[in-house]
Amino acid sequence: MKLTETNAFVGYNAIPQLDLGATVRSTFRKMSDRQTGAVIISSGDRPHWFVSGDWLKPAYEKMNRDEIAGKDPAAFAAGANIAELPIGTFLGHLKTQPAMVGPALPVTSTVESVTRYGGNPLFPVQDPTHRWIGWYFYQGELLNSLLGKAPVFYCERGHPNPDMDNGFCYDCPAPIRQ
Ligand SMILES: [Zn+2]
Repeated sequence: MKLTETNAFVGYNAIPQLDLGATVRSTFRKMSDRQTGAVIISSGDRPHWFVSGDWLKPAYEKMNRDEIAGKDPAAFAAGANIAELPIGTFLGHLKTQPAMVGPALPVTSTVESVTRYGGNPLFPVQDPTHRWIGWYFYQGELLNSLLGKAPVFYCERGHPNPDMDNGFCYDCPAPIRQ
């Protein structure tokens, strides 16, 4: 069976893309604006990482806690706003990496042919003119995370926020809960 005929295939625009230079904050904001649970981080037109909100939010919150606790002095100047780091820099500081995008597959690929690339969780798919047409999810749980909710940040009074901005709520003066 062709990849494009399976339930594990989605159109190219189904996953929003951001460049490595986009900030952590704008990465969360993109998920909220597009109401997706994940984004693709690209370098130029080369997709590198599939970053889900389920993965990124705890990583972001842990880095904030580590910074506040002074556990990671090598990585950041004191008081650095982690939300304003480029997402590529942020990912580079982490010990575990998000899901890596596999090599581009031709649109004629079959489910059986993908098994030889085993280990890659998802693949971009190209037509014969090398135009990107979609994504094939080898790991179903990643597709579930894409279709899930965008992350939400609650302030200490319980207001939902699409990103952590400067650490304070968009609706009131309360800080974002850590
Ligand atoms: Zn609030």
